[in-house]
Amino acid sequence: MKLLAFAEQREGKFKKSAYEVTQAAGKLAEQLGGEAVTVVVGNTVSAIAPELGAYGAKRVIVVQDPRLQYYSTTAYAKIVAEIAKKESVTALFLPASQMGKDLAPRVAAKLDAGVAADCVALNVEQGEITGVRPVYAGKANITVKVTSPVKIFTLRPNVFTASASNGATANVEQAAVELTDADFSAKVTGVKIAEGRPDVTEASIIVSGGRGMKGPEHFHLVEELADVLGAAVGASRAVVDAGWRPHDEQVGQTGKTVSPTLYIACGISGAVQHLAGMSSSKYIVAVNKDKDAPIFQVADYGVVGDVFEILPALTEELKKKLHK
Ligand SMILES: Cc1cc2nc3c(=O)[nH]c(=O)nc-3n(C[C@H](O)[C@H](O)[C@H](O)COP(=O)(O)OP(=O)(O)OC[C@H]3O[C@@H](n4cnc5c(N)ncnc54)[C@H](O)[C@@H]3O)c2cc1C
Repeated sequence: MKLLAFAEQREGKFKKSAYEVTQAAGKLAEQLGGEAVTVVVGNTVSAIAPELGAYGAKRVIVVQDPRLQYYSTTAYAKIVAEIAKKESVTALFLPASQMGKDLAPRVAAKLDAGVAADCVALNVEQGEITGVRPVYAGKANITVKVTSPVKIFTLRPNVFTASASNGATANVEQAAVELTDADFSAKVTGVKIAEGRPDVTEASIIVSGGRGMKGPEHFHLVEELADVLGAAVGASRAVVDAGWRPHDEQVGQTGKTVSPTLYIACGISGAVQHLAGMSSSKYIVAVNKDKDAPIFQVADYGVVGDVFEILPALTEELKKKLHK
């Protein structure tokens, strides 16, 4: 059985999910007695491809072209599907990132494959790969089996491990896929990288604020705590709808799904739609003045208190402890 991992890179740098997806596919291949191959698409990416060896990749296929400098939905989908066909793979693994979510269904359509999206675990049961995915806004997990001959799984970022081992190298091969202008029908002409704090989908720590912050003028308390920790700033939908914070910070069912190591919820009640986006975080800390707030049901550590007292005190204490 041959498996194909898609390693996401931007601007010639791998996303952490590239290592997670590569390692997850490698582990499954071992369990199945098969082979895992990783594909990297972009411009001048052959230089970074060997890095994947540290995450268990034995073979890395590189498809590079100056026109692939920026992610192109149509071209990337064609390349990944063609490589999957050439290699006769039975399962593909992509990150459930913005790119992976865009790519997976298009590749699936080309390969007539079923997709198990946003998996938080992958297992082998009776020789078949199964994916575990949250349902009902994270209230339950279901185990799914994809029944089509070619199967696609997308992996929630930050959930799977990516531990590097020293000295391992990958065999890097160049592959050519013929691309015409028609393959670039949707074209990215430029990318502006947001300055400042990391994005909530990539941060290992997120400090999020809700309606309990009482107004946009108080969010500096959330930002100051985030900056001491090198964290991203997140928000509940209530504050985004009120125009206190930008939509790209919204965490939840209609916002972003996050799985950081640490999620600090400040003045957030913990509505099921918010929990849908963050309950798979490793450690959840909640600050809320209502001891019965639902957020405390998922929190590992809870502070029943006023954010206007707790946040400045926490920031000060962390500054001292972290020498900032
Ligand atoms: C279809 C649908 C999709 C949705 N999608 C999302 C989504 O993606 N993300 C999302 O977040 N929501 C979503 N919602 C909205 C969700 O149901 C809640 O309304 C929202 O999450 C509430 O935001 P909040 O916790 O900030 O506000 P509230 O529910 O008003 O909670 C504020 C909390 O702050 C506490 N508080 C008040 N003052 C203080 C203080 N001084 N110190 C400490 N604590 C204090 C209160 O005790 C309370 O628990 C969705 C709803 C629907 C119907």
